[in-house]
Amino acid sequence: MQVKQFVFNPFGVNAYVLSNDAGDAILIDPSASNERERNALAIYIKDAGLKVCRVLNTHLHLDHVLGNAFVERTYGVKAEAHEADSFLLGLQHEQGSMFGLPFDDPAPALGGTLSDGDIVEVPGIKLRVIHVPGHSPGGLAFYCESTGSGDDDAPALFSGDILFAGSMGRSDLFGGDGNALVNGIKSKILTLPGNTVVLPGHGPFTTVADEKMWF
Ligand SMILES: [Zn+2]
Ligand SMILES: [Zn+2]
Repeated sequence: MQVKQFVFNPFGVNAYVLSNDAGDAILIDPSASNERERNALAIYIKDAGLKVCRVLNTHLHLDHVLGNAFVERTYGVKAEAHEADSFLLGLQHEQGSMFGLPFDDPAPALGGTLSDGDIVEVPGIKLRVIHVPGHSPGGLAFYCESTGSGDDDAPALFSGDILFAGSMGRSDLFGGDGNALVNGIKSKILTLPGNTVVLPGHGPFTTVADEKMWF
């Protein structure tokens, strides 16, 4: 599995493009917010010869869905996320004015929903959906047990805004719950193998072992 990371929009969201050798791609939070960022994403996809198969949102806060409309228009693929966050798509305007984020291209309705334990798969890439509410009601992480990258085949976890290097997501926004977030991190994230590389929704990568010391 190839993983390409972009950092998009004023909130510095990590957007990830996962692809296999055949060029099948899964996008995670492709949150490009302006022409330059949209072009960067499109040029990478074109030059690498990728076919966008699935578009996943870790959650539906505005900073993570800013590219959904562009991706749907360009590649004809609708985003998927947890049902419990879908109300946030109706609050894009409020979130935009609250955080000073662009609101010129609202995210359309989801194409499908994801639940805890679901598997998202293209040949050679298998992601297990992990639901941890608390930062948002429908917060998701995507766990890849085997990244197939030879000697260093450590598992990978795309953790959204659930867990960051040295911190976790805030719980004071729409439907947040601090206790649920800590409990979910302890029971569902920190129980993954210690060498799991954590690729969060913002900021640098970390590992499950490194984050255990904070909990
Ligand atoms: Zn968030
Ligand atoms: Zn975020």
